[in-house]
Amino acid sequence: MEDCIFCKIIEGKIPGDFVFKDDEIVAFKDIHPLTPTHLLVVPIKHIGALTDLATTDNTLMGNMIAVANKVARDERIADSGYRLVINSGKHAGQLVAHLHIHVLGGRQMSGDFD
Ligand code: AMP
Ligand code: ZN
Repeated sequence: MEDCIFCKIIEGKIPGDFVFKDDEIVAFKDIHPLTPTHLLVVPIKHIGALTDLATTDNTLMGNMIAVANKVARDERIADSGYRLVINSGKHAGQLVAHLHIHVLGGRQMSGDFD
C-alpha cells in the first residue's frame, strides 16, 4: 500500500525496531512509547481498520492476539500485567490507517481509557 507508514516499515523501506516476525504478522517498538514497554502488533497484509476486517480474517486476529501475548511475555511485562488497545477511526484517535494492536505495559495504568 503506497504511502502507508506501516507497510513501509514491513517492507524495510523505513526502519523499525522489530521484536517479532512471521509470515503474516510483525511486532515492533512504538516510536513514541506511552508506557515503558509499548509495542505494535501489525498484520503484514494491509488492513485499514477494524471496520475493514473480513470474516476470513478471524484467524489472523486470533493469531495477532497470540503474538501480542508472546511479545508481552518476551518483554517481561506479562506477569505484572499489560493492556491491548486497538484504535479504529477518528473518534478513537487512530492515526495510522493500517490495523495494529498496541501492547502497553511496564507501569501501573489507571482504568481511564482516555
Ligand atoms: P494509532 O493512534 O492507534 O493509529 O497509533 C499509531 C501509533 O504508531 C502511535 O502510537 C505512533 O507513535 C506509532 N508510530 C507512528 N510512526 C511510527 C514509526 N515510524 N515507528 C513506530 N511507531 C510509529
Ligand atoms: Zn499498510
